Amino acid sequence: MSERVFSVILLPTSDCNVACDYCFEHKEPHRLSPALLPLLTKRLLDHLENEDIEECEIYWQGGEAMVMGPAWFENAGEVMNRAAAQRGRQFVHYLQTNLIGYSQAWNGVIHKMFDGSLGTSMDYPNLYRKLFKGGAAAYTELWTRKLREAKAAGIGVGVIAVLHQGSLEAGPERFYRYFTGDLGLTDFQVNTPFPGGPAKEVEGGFQLDSSELADFMVGLFDIWMAEGYSSGVSVGPFDALIDHFTGKQARLPCIWKENCSNQFISVDAKGTVAQCDCWVTSYPEYFFGNIFQDADLTRMLKTSRARRDFVERPKRLVEDEDCLSCRYLSICHGGCPVRTYSALGTMMAKDPYCEVYKAVFACAETHAREILRARAAPIVAPRQRHEVVLNHGPRQTERTASGS
Ligand code: SF4
Ligand code: SF4
Ligand code: SF4
Repeated sequence: MSERVFSVILLPTSDCNVACDYCFEHKEPHRLSPALLPLLTKRLLDHLENEDIEECEIYWQGGEAMVMGPAWFENAGEVMNRAAAQRGRQFVHYLQTNLIGYSQAWNGVIHKMFDGSLGTSMDYPNLYRKLFKGGAAAYTELWTRKLREAKAAGIGVGVIAVLHQGSLEAGPERFYRYFTGDLGLTDFQVNTPFPGGPAKEVEGGFQLDSSELADFMVGLFDIWMAEGYSSGVSVGPFDALIDHFTGKQARLPCIWKENCSNQFISVDAKGTVAQCDCWVTSYPEYFFGNIFQDADLTRMLKTSRARRDFVERPKRLVEDEDCLSCRYLSICHGGCPVRTYSALGTMMAKDPYCEVYKAVFACAETHAREILRARAAPIVAPRQRHEVVLNHGPRQTERTASGS
């Protein structure tokens, strides 16, 4: 069986219990019915069988996934896992939540279905994540309390932060201290922002200046290398880049995959299939089909006209953009289609964060070179090391060689 992993971003609802300014969801009360879950599961398993894939990652998101309640997830996990086991396949479940609806009632299913961990999101400073009543400050306070409760229950929490103008103004040092010091996190990830939906409708600082953003990212990378890298703090995507440039197997984010269409699809509560959550919620012109109405997911993905654009994008970029002459092409592949589409109205162009990526790749390369150099250096006893340090000129070499 192929070792390829297939990933599904599954949105059981687009409903949500908070009101972020930059939300691109069309929030609707519609929820994935337990009666339709076996059919959805069957379609996914048929596709895994057709493609000879053993494992399927399910990323449960929303809207807000927790509005479905823990009992709904308990049932969903059992239905899906049982069906997969009967066909010699496996689902691995991940949960992404805003945490606002978290309570102790979730602990059982989080430990059982999600291996005791979850992903959530918070920005620094938080200006745009808001409760329906109480605004951003109340959101931060409630979210921080829920984070502490989840951690106290033994749940591993990873946090995604979306950068905005306020983050750049705060600077990388304060940003890093907030996540690692104030919140005590050892695992967080920074994402570049993009306006889902028609770009001009979104308010706020989401069109960031590339050179300011590059300076911020490089500054944050340097702080993490100096303080976090060797002490167990994981900061994405820097950690994956260090793995890549030091020759380890790297789990790079989707924006730098060879082609995200090889690995991901997203399915919403109504069965709509698209490339990822950003597409399924914002761009109907790029829907691939409907998993409940089309009996064959494999055929849908192969024949969808909309999907062909994703498949052909890397080739088109190499022909039409300067990516071919870029030394980072093999790691970047032209970046993210949705970041490009939301900024330019076409995905057949390179990612508008190109210059930011180049700066971050160069920074990663420099740090990786230092790591490899340090690893290659001989381990020497203190006295010998003193001699090596002195070993600059011919006389000193002589002295060292003679052992004096
Ligand atoms: S938590 Fe997500 S779905 Fe809910 S309002 Fe915020 S961005 Fe939108
Ligand atoms: S469009 Fe962008 S965000 Fe969506 S899966 Fe592809 S690379 Fe990831
Ligand atoms: S860094 Fe820029 S030029 Fe290089 S591959 Fe990525 S998008 Fe293309």
